[in-house]
Parts: sequence; C-alpha cells; structure tokens
Amino acid sequence: MITSSCDERFISVSENIKRIRSEIAESAVKAGRKPEDVRLMAVTKTVAVEYINHAILNCGIDLIGENKVQEFLSKKDELRLDGVEKHLIGHLQTNKVKKILPEVDMIQSVDSLRLAKAISDEAVKLGISSEILLEVNIGGEDSKTGFDKAAFFESLDEISSLPSITVKGLMTIPPICDNTAELEKYFSMMYDYYNEIKSKNFSNFNFEILSMGMSGDYSQAVKYGSNLVRVGSAIFGARLYK
Ligand SMILES: *Cc1c(COP(=O)(O)O)cnc(C)c1O
Repeated sequence: MITSSCDERFISVSENIKRIRSEIAESAVKAGRKPEDVRLMAVTKTVAVEYINHAILNCGIDLIGENKVQEFLSKKDELRLDGVEKHLIGHLQTNKVKKILPEVDMIQSVDSLRLAKAISDEAVKLGISSEILLEVNIGGEDSKTGFDKAAFFESLDEISSLPSITVKGLMTIPPICDNTAELEKYFSMMYDYYNEIKSKNFSNFNFEILSMGMSGDYSQAVKYGSNLVRVGSAIFGARLYK
C-alpha cells in the first residue's frame, strides 16, 4: 500500500471520488442516461504523484488529464499508469507536438486548424493515428483558448481531410456564469453542436466524446449530455501554484 491511514489528504481524495461518482450517477439518471456512460477524468495538474497514484491504485481512476507537456513528462515515470488513459487538456504549442504525441492517448485541446495539421503531420511521421477532440470557445471569450464558433464550422472540412488523426468529439470550458440557466445554455449549445457534427459523417470523424464539466459544474454538464467530466480540485483539493 502506498497510502497511510494517517494522511487525511489520501482519505479525502478517496471520499471525494466516491461522492463525485455518486453525484454524476444521480445527474445521469435524472437526465435519463446511464451512469456508466459518463467517464470521470482526474485532472492532475500541480498534484503530487503520490496522490495521483492513490487515485489510480485505490480509487479506480483510469483516466487522467494534464495541462502542460513539461509537467506531464516530468511526472510520468513515477506514475502507475498501467491501464490508465492519459489525455492532454491544456493549450498545446505546435512546437511541442512532437514531444507529447507519443506519450498521450488523446489531445483534447485542439484549438486551431494549424494545431490539427501539426498533429496530423507528426502522426504521419510516427506512423500512428492520433485521437483528438476539438476545443470550442463556446462563450466567445478573448481570454480563452478554443476555436471561435465561426472559424470552427469553417474548419471542419479541412480537418476532416487530414490524414492520421481521428476526431473523437468536442471539448469546452464554458464562461464563468452568474446563474445556472446561463451555464446550461452553453452546455446545451455544445450538445447541439456535437449532435449536428456527428450526424454529418465527416471522414476521419468518429464522434463519441463530449468533454465538458469541471469541479464546479459537472452535474449540469452531465444533465446536458457530457460523457466525460474533467475534475481536478474537487478530487485533490485546491491547487497550489508555485
Ligand atoms: C484545470 C482544468 C480542469 C479541472 O478544473 P477543476 O475546476 O479543478 O476541476 C478541467 N479542464 C481543464 C481544461 C483544465 O485546465
């Protein structure tokens, strides 16, 4: 065992994951969906490896997300990643594609045609096919990454022509909203986009994942069709940035 029963933080990680799973299940059932159709990703940015390993080994976490290439590469050798899927969820610069592509199972944060092309080019070189999600800046905020809506729809044809990538779905971070109705409007819009694009059968698109919902809003996201929630602080506690 790598856990020590004296360490309250290990215990709270276990309890948090249990509670979040049951809230996700409740929200799914209320929406007429199956609890097992929603995956829980543990977002591990700034989290020390022993807590991540605890979540993996003792709490059934089989999907982790990291934001930064360098941080993931520096932690990965100490992580117990057998049977665990790793996704990059933070903004990726094209010059770091080469480093991260062989290391992760999916890049969720593809926010430009240029980045999609860079991933495709590198995947061709490596002789692999890369799975990606397209990140949509659903609130049209200047401060956020993600395709803006107009550019997004215009880029789909070109993205679908790229070799060696499979577009598995969409990802978003909604704006901070004053009220639940406004937040749900963004989630609902994403769900509509997801279904609309899925129905069009673009080549190289295989839509299965709608990634939305974080610590503060996963229940609402599940209500509006999210099937992958990305939860960090509600699992591991507040982040301490160095
Ligand atoms: C940090 C982060 C999360 C998790 O945020 P919490 O509010 O701590 O749950 C989810 N998605 C992305 C893209 C992130 O950067």
